[in-house]
Amino acid sequence: MNYDYDLFVIGAGSGGVRAARMSAGFGARVAVAEESSLGGTCVNVGCIPKKLFVYGSHFSEDFEDAEFYGWDLHPTQFDWRRLRDNKTEEVRRLNGIYGELLGDAGVDVYGSRATFVDDHTLRVGQDTITAEHILIATGSRPHVPRLPGSKFVISSNEMFYLPTLPRRIAVVGGGYIAVEFAGIMNGLGVDTTLVYRGPLFLRGFDEGIRSFVKTELEGKGIRLMFNTTVQSIRKEGNTRILLLNDNTELKVDQVLYATGRTPNTYGLELEKAQVETNSNGAVVVDESYQTSANNIYALGDVIDRFQLTPVAIAEGMAFSNSVFGGESGSVDYSSIPTCVFCQPNIGTVGPTEEEATSQFDDLQVFESTFRPLKHTVTKRNERSLMKLLVDGATDRVIAAHMVGSDAGEIIQGLAVAITAKATKADFDRTIAIHPTSAEEFVTMRSRSR
Ligand code: NDP
Repeated sequence: MNYDYDLFVIGAGSGGVRAARMSAGFGARVAVAEESSLGGTCVNVGCIPKKLFVYGSHFSEDFEDAEFYGWDLHPTQFDWRRLRDNKTEEVRRLNGIYGELLGDAGVDVYGSRATFVDDHTLRVGQDTITAEHILIATGSRPHVPRLPGSKFVISSNEMFYLPTLPRRIAVVGGGYIAVEFAGIMNGLGVDTTLVYRGPLFLRGFDEGIRSFVKTELEGKGIRLMFNTTVQSIRKEGNTRILLLNDNTELKVDQVLYATGRTPNTYGLELEKAQVETNSNGAVVVDESYQTSANNIYALGDVIDRFQLTPVAIAEGMAFSNSVFGGESGSVDYSSIPTCVFCQPNIGTVGPTEEEATSQFDDLQVFESTFRPLKHTVTKRNERSLMKLLVDGATDRVIAAHMVGSDAGEIIQGLAVAITAKATKADFDRTIAIHPTSAEEFVTMRSRSR
């Protein structure tokens, strides 16, 4: 059978674009369909614009700190629309680059929605297109639970295009997006309350890190309400009023729900290709990203393993290597480094102390908390936490956790060492760069357990 393409990719986000480009590089005839802007969540309403907002929001502290270093800047003023629109201009530039990358690789781009007709056939806009292999890389979208008044809330998608900055905001949720946007809003001068249903946010992260971040965020003026749920929301004028589980009310101008993301499978008509999904709507795949239909694959957020851009990219490369490159294609999920861009950042790689305690008989924990050098002058009461976990039996460093400025940058480097199975002795004989915060990781001598 002659197909129109060797590979048709549905979704031009991080995973789909990487898979399309690499597969084309192996000589495959490739097309991709994207109904929205190229680049997916990461480029348009995720990692990139979020990080720009984090930079933007941190200036408020930088200006305060600058005075201690001799600079007089007051009064300072902030223009939300300028930040928002400059961010959007950069996003548009990146959309163009994604288009060029696909074009240069010889990938055909269809700017419409694709739905399944059968396991080798797609309806793409007005066209009917056949492909030998089909890759579902449609990502995820924000999930907002149903509750009375949920029409008065927004998701992270809308946060990137707010017409005006609210004076007061409630952020509901306790994961990545909630703590990152709470920090952004607080830094931009918005009165910020984070509402989380459990006893301590950032479930899944190291306990010590979670408690430390709680203290830091509170110290910056973010109001944290734990063990708190929202019963209903009503609107009076421009004010949103949240009725909480203790029957008190929280009055704000904007409500952000950051309560997880749902795989984007709705409306793809997967049943026409016999592609199975789980109860969460995620496409079910095996270790080679193959779905229940053997010519159809899926990766990235839509398979709901790790909703992280670099993981989707790694999966895209693994897919291309195995299907078109003739190599084995797999992703090592054992030590995924990650950063939460709250302020200060969390950077982490490897298991939490709680997980490691149950995995290793002789776990050694090295920990250091300190006030960064910069703030000895500013008197800002921001502290950093660094933690190394070592398997005493082999001396291998199995995890590094950090809260502090540039934690993501620092942990990325340590992730190489941990992936390469470095030992504590390797860390100890590494000469420090002085004065840095990162040097703490190679000078931890005393065991805290
Ligand atoms: P997360 O899964 O990180 O967190 C969801 C939060 O919402 C949890 O605190 C959860 O509580 C809470 N929650 C879930 N359902 C409800 C509900 N019905 N009512 C109240 N609270 C609820 O999701 P996010 O939306 O923050 O982020 C989505 C994904 O995007 C993340 O998993 C992450 O992988 C990715 N991401 C990565 C970033 C990065 O790498 N820096 C940045 C932003 C996003 P509980 O813990 O009790 O379940």
